[in-house]
Amino acid sequence: MSERTILVVLDGLNHAVAQHAMGYLHALCEADRATYHTLECELPAMSRPLYECLLTGDRPVDSGVVNNDVVRRSTGTSLFDLAVAQGRRTAAAAYHWVSELYVEAPFDRVRHRLRQDRDAAIQAGLFYWRDHYPDDHLFSDAEALRQLHEPDFMLVHSMNIDDAGHRYGADSAGYRNAARQADIALADYLPLWMAAGYQILVTADHGMNDDRSHSGKLVEERRVPLWTLGSAFVEQSVTGIEQTEICGTLATLMGLEHTKPVAHALLAAGAAT
Ligand SMILES: [Zn+2]
Repeated sequence: MSERTILVVLDGLNHAVAQHAMGYLHALCEADRATYHTLECELPAMSRPLYECLLTGDRPVDSGVVNNDVVRRSTGTSLFDLAVAQGRRTAAAAYHWVSELYVEAPFDRVRHRLRQDRDAAIQAGLFYWRDHYPDDHLFSDAEALRQLHEPDFMLVHSMNIDDAGHRYGADSAGYRNAARQADIALADYLPLWMAAGYQILVTADHGMNDDRSHSGKLVEERRVPLWTLGSAFVEQSVTGIEQTEICGTLATLMGLEHTKPVAHALLAAGAAT
């Protein structure tokens, strides 16, 4: 098993909206080309702590990245680190906090905007810093990196849904329409990535509440979507998945040596061997 993988993180998308607003992703589900699951994010339900959780499998209370103001390189072992150490290629089109976690902190808008370094954990990176950096630009950035660098693992991380949630709240046309727009934009790229043979996860770091924020235990803050796309995944919806298992599940699919927890229930028979 030596699959190539893509992790799409739609920042701030809660399950309540994900389960109805994402017409293209649910079309793939209806056509048996994707499966929708949900999971509860770790706490605190905040971005930087949960980027670290998704990419290392470590809970915020263990990683020490416990709020958005912890600005330093990760001290954990990320999927980027694992992949590069074992000779695989990595890329990320993501918010600049990802660059701070896995490349260098603090972020320098000139030196770190566009990265190409075979010795770095993220070998090819394109990073942005405005929360309203358009999602359709971000997905285009990711596809450009993919075509140029042919990564074995790529992170694609959009921010407009979270931005709309902070402006208008979770129960708003603005938030729901931002989700719809991300889905529409993704529809231009997911077919390319599936055709290229990638195993793909689409999820969120955390959700959003009606108070225009997120950090705690409300179901709308914690419950997030997880779509699986690719032949390595089971075709039925699975419950009980932990956010700490995303990193290890992708590492296992890639055939990487690792000791991280794995969501075995997500993997089709034969995919984990
Ligand atoms: Zn947010």
